[in-house]
Amino acid sequence: MLPLPRTSYEAPDTVEEAVRLSAEPGARYISGGTDLLPSMKQRVHLPALLVSTRRLSAMRRVVAGESGALVVGAGLTLRHIATHPDVLLHHPALAAAARSVATPTIQAMATLGGNLMLDTRCVYYNQPSGWRAALGGCLKCEGTICHVAPKGKGCYAAQSADTVPVLSLLGAVAVFEALSGTVRVPVAELYDGDGRDWITAPRGSLLTHVELPAPQNPIAYRKLRQRGAIDYGLLLTAVQRNEGGFRAVISAVGPAPISVSAPDGASLEEAAYAAVQPLATHLPAATWRKKLVRVEVRRAVMELG
Ligand SMILES: Cc1cc2nc3c(=O)[nH]c(=O)nc-3n(C[C@H](O)[C@H](O)[C@H](O)COP(=O)(O)OP(=O)(O)OC[C@H]3O[C@@H](n4cnc5c(N)ncnc54)[C@H](O)[C@@H]3O)c2cc1C
Ligand code: SF4
Repeated sequence: MLPLPRTSYEAPDTVEEAVRLSAEPGARYISGGTDLLPSMKQRVHLPALLVSTRRLSAMRRVVAGESGALVVGAGLTLRHIATHPDVLLHHPALAAAARSVATPTIQAMATLGGNLMLDTRCVYYNQPSGWRAALGGCLKCEGTICHVAPKGKGCYAAQSADTVPVLSLLGAVAVFEALSGTVRVPVAELYDGDGRDWITAPRGSLLTHVELPAPQNPIAYRKLRQRGAIDYGLLLTAVQRNEGGFRAVISAVGPAPISVSAPDGASLEEAAYAAVQPLATHLPAATWRKKLVRVEVRRAVMELG
């Protein structure tokens, strides 16, 4: 069993105090801890101070607006989101995405905020320190080369959070508190850059809630993974039919999700196949994942009827 490294811990009562504490050197937020604590055990992250969100009750509410618009607190657990009557009624694809994370026990701890701020993943990175050291580390952690693309200078670790493709298609907005004030970022614009620095919100800002607009057309969400539970997605696919055609957001294939669209009469699956280029960041072959892009998009379109 891997022991946790030593660290300090604070659980402030207010958002302001949490943001102030997070500005201290080496500070990091912790919510459910379902991603951060295993990463700390693997010595991927060694925060000097953990700033817990567990006492921030303002982040654990669902507020219903007009016509099914919702404000969902980032401190709510994925189980709460998957079972909340307003989410199930107005945004069932978000409930399905929350339900597809890991296992029911993890969903009971894991929060929406932690899901959106999930670290990028790669088979060369999410490993114990001894495993990584045997390869000399990599650009994202302790090393000087990328084992996925050795000639490149970037990191291609994948954004793999289940709720992100659906939230992007919904037009959801992530709301952060930073030292400079409130920052609102559409989820569709929250991820960019490379796998070492992929969040566009200000560093150290606290994700407090997510605004969901009134529901529009239904969304089909599909998760390709090795086993029916526990595993992260190998391809995360959300598809929506709009006036004039289809839109898709596909994730787990790089640091930022890929958006594609196809007007009526054109093939969404071919547009997605052309746009999505999985790399060897996961154990199953990238060529197989590429072939499955067409299949997953076609299945999602068929689910919409
Ligand atoms: C076995 C296993 C399987 C898993 N499978 C999946 C899966 O299939 N799909 C999936 O999406 N995830 C999966 N996860 C990862 C994780 O459980 C979820 O992503 C979860 O939603 C993370 O939320 P958390 O509250 O536990 O985050 P934490 O672990 O507390 O934090 C995760 C990251 O977010 C930051 N953070 C947390 N809250 C905030 C906030 N409010 N504002 C700013 N930053 C914040 C933390 O600093 C940290 O960097 C799995 C984890 C395990 C252990
Ligand atoms: S993509 Fe390359 S640099 Fe990034 S985590 Fe994987 S091996 Fe490391």
